[in-house]
Amino acid sequence: RRAIELEHADEPATTTDGHHVEIVANIGSLDDAQAAMTKGAEGVGLLRSEFVFMDRRSAPTEDEQAQIYTDIAKALKPGQPLVIRTLDVGGDKPLPYLPIAPEENPFLGQRGIRVGLDRPEILRTQIRAILRAADAGAKINVMFPMISTIEDFRLAKAIFEEERNAMGVLPMPVGIMCEVPSTAVMAHQFAAEVDFFSVGTNDLTQYTLAMDRGHPKLAPQVDALNPAVLGLIAECVRGAHAAGRWVGVCGGAASDIQAVPLLVGIGVDELSVSVPAIPSVKALIRSLSLERCQELAAQALGADSAEAVRALVPLDND
Ligand code: PEP
Ligand code: MG
Repeated sequence: RRAIELEHADEPATTTDGHHVEIVANIGSLDDAQAAMTKGAEGVGLLRSEFVFMDRRSAPTEDEQAQIYTDIAKALKPGQPLVIRTLDVGGDKPLPYLPIAPEENPFLGQRGIRVGLDRPEILRTQIRAILRAADAGAKINVMFPMISTIEDFRLAKAIFEEERNAMGVLPMPVGIMCEVPSTAVMAHQFAAEVDFFSVGTNDLTQYTLAMDRGHPKLAPQVDALNPAVLGLIAECVRGAHAAGRWVGVCGGAASDIQAVPLLVGIGVDELSVSVPAIPSVKALIRSLSLERCQELAAQALGADSAEAVRALVPLDND
C-alpha cells in the first residue's frame, strides 16, 4: 500500500466529490524540506524555526538565518507556500543562550511570541532574515506562535511591518498559530487582522484540557479528538472563513488518520503533516467524500468523549 501511495504522491488531495485540501509539510531543516518534496508536499505549512536555534552556543546571526530560509525557499517548487514560524521557545523548549527566569508555570509564562516581544532584538533579527528570503522563489508567509491576545498580535505585526518597510520588501501574509483557547474563541476578531490561522492541536489540546502535553500519566487523555478541542477548531474555522481567511492544522492531529476526516469535515483548508505521513494523508483524502466528512464532524462535535469520537472514525481505510 505504501508503494502505491508514494506512486500517487504528486497528485493533489481531492475528495471523491471534488473538494481540494492542501497538503503541506512540517519541517525543521533544509533536509526535511527536500524530503517533503519527494513525498509530494505542496509546500511547507510549518517551519519550526526553533530548530535553527537549537544545538548551538549562541543565536544564529541574521546572515546565517537568511541563508537557511533562502535555501529552504529554493528547495520548494516556485510559488509554493512556505510558512515560517518565528522562534517558539520557552515552556518545554529551553535555549541555553537565551535564559528565561525560572517560572512556576513555564507553559503559562514566557513562551512563543511572548519571548520575542520581551526581547525584540531577537524577533527583529529573525524577521529581517525572513524578509531577505522573499525573492527566493517560494511564497513566504510569517506566522507568530502562542498568540493569546489581539494586543500581542498587533505588537508583533507592528514590528514586522516596521522592518519590512525599512527594507522595502513587498507585503507578505502574516498569520498566527491558533493554539490557545482564547484565540479560537476570538477567531472572529482576529480574522479582521490576521491573514491566516494554523491550528496547533498539540498546545490547543494541552491548554483546553489543562493537561500537560508531555505528562506520561495523562498521555492517554491528551487527545485532540476530544470534542472540546474539535469545537474550538470549528470555532476558529467559522471565524476565519467569515472574513475570508484560510485555516490550516499543523499540530499532530493533521497526521492522525482518524483525525483527518473530521478536520476536513470541519472545513479546515490545509493540513500540514509530518513528512513521512504526506502520501498516506493524501491517499486517505482521495478516498473520502466531503459530505461524509461533514456528517462525521457533526457527530463528533456532539459526542461526549475522545473515545466516542474515535469510535466513529474507522482506523483502517482499506
Ligand atoms: C502545536 O502546538 O500543535 C504545534 C504545531 O506547535 P509545537 O508542537 O511546535 O508546539
Ligand atoms: Mg505549539
